[in-house]
Amino acid sequence: MFFSPDFAPFRPQLFTAADELRKQSLGDDVYLRGLVEFSNYCSCGCAYCGISWHNKSIQRYRMSSEEIFETVKYAFGLGFRSFVLQSGEDKFYDERTVVKILDKLKNVFDCAITLSIGEWSKESLRNFRCAGADRYLLRIETSDPDLFSRLHPDSKWDDRHRCLQDIKELGFQTGSGILIGLPGQGPESLYQDFKYLLALDPEMVGVGPFIPHPETPLKNEKCGDLDTTLTFLALLRLFLPRSFLPATTAMGSIHPEGRKLALLAGANVLMPNVSPTENRAMYELYPGKICITDDALKCHKCMESWVSKMNRRTNLGKGHIIKDSSKK
Ligand code: SF4
Repeated sequence: MFFSPDFAPFRPQLFTAADELRKQSLGDDVYLRGLVEFSNYCSCGCAYCGISWHNKSIQRYRMSSEEIFETVKYAFGLGFRSFVLQSGEDKFYDERTVVKILDKLKNVFDCAITLSIGEWSKESLRNFRCAGADRYLLRIETSDPDLFSRLHPDSKWDDRHRCLQDIKELGFQTGSGILIGLPGQGPESLYQDFKYLLALDPEMVGVGPFIPHPETPLKNEKCGDLDTTLTFLALLRLFLPRSFLPATTAMGSIHPEGRKLALLAGANVLMPNVSPTENRAMYELYPGKICITDDALKCHKCMESWVSKMNRRTNLGKGHIIKDSSKK
């Protein structure tokens, strides 16, 4: 019922309840995670993704270990203490390279690091954990294995699910999430996604609307809508009161107030892009992505300003996520 049009009149109450619970359980801080998009190469052809192999017209880039280090160093100088290292499925960065990058960053900077680099074996994940990665972000995208296989010609739902279980077992603060408005998804599928995420009980959950990219097979499909995305987010807040929920960039890309509305419906995280400005436009997961001409300082200042106007405050700290121990 939550995802049917009949629920629309009740959404404001749901959002208010989620916002109140967020305040009670996590306070008013909005945690900033500096996002470093270090490679837009990807060996996968996810049907919705603008950096998948479907896109033949995009310019590809890779950052060297040194460039990643310098990017983190710059943002660390601005006060950031939490970083997300993200790329496509790009095995140019093999396990050893990722470990070396982590080692160097963790030895020099007192910060928290989230990896968002796709599926790996449990052994590799263990080595990333030992090298100091604190968190791992891997969206399930949909809990429906059939829909998953239609959208992901190079991945298997069982592998994705297994990888998430490994991530949890290895003691990462675990992040997952879904896309909302995928063709063929429907309210029942969303309900199953919701149950899947509750069972996984992740420390972080990111939900974003599907946005059709012109260079992908789904280019003519309808965009996911903000109201359904906000509804899903608010329900997550009610059932996962201590999980960290980002106001995703995709929400801000389909609506000028998208991220603010998300912060008023239970979200407590923003992920400002701290990647070098010259790379940003090439990491085009979907069209209309915001903040691609800014730099880390401008993104940070901009967020600080609009967040403080909401009577909230940005928090650049590590933002470790401590869930209710009674739930473990
Ligand atoms: S969603 Fe991730 S794995 Fe899939 S094509 Fe895009 S970057 Fe690659």
